[in-house]
Amino acid sequence: MTISKFKKVKCLTCNKEFDITLKTKPFCSKRCSNVDLNNWLGERYAIQANEIDYDKDI
Ligand SMILES: [Zn+2]
Repeated sequence: MTISKFKKVKCLTCNKEFDITLKTKPFCSKRCSNVDLNNWLGERYAIQANEIDYDKDI
């Protein structure tokens, strides 16, 4: 009676299946979570990098 106690979901980063009870959900690992985050931030940064000048006179 212990079958299908755990559900499997696919990692958004690497498509590997992992247990849904993992705390890193929806990613299989902290690393994949970071990869996705970096991709997301990286894209935003790339878009804004040309327009923002962080070295203005403070
Ligand atoms: Zn993954």
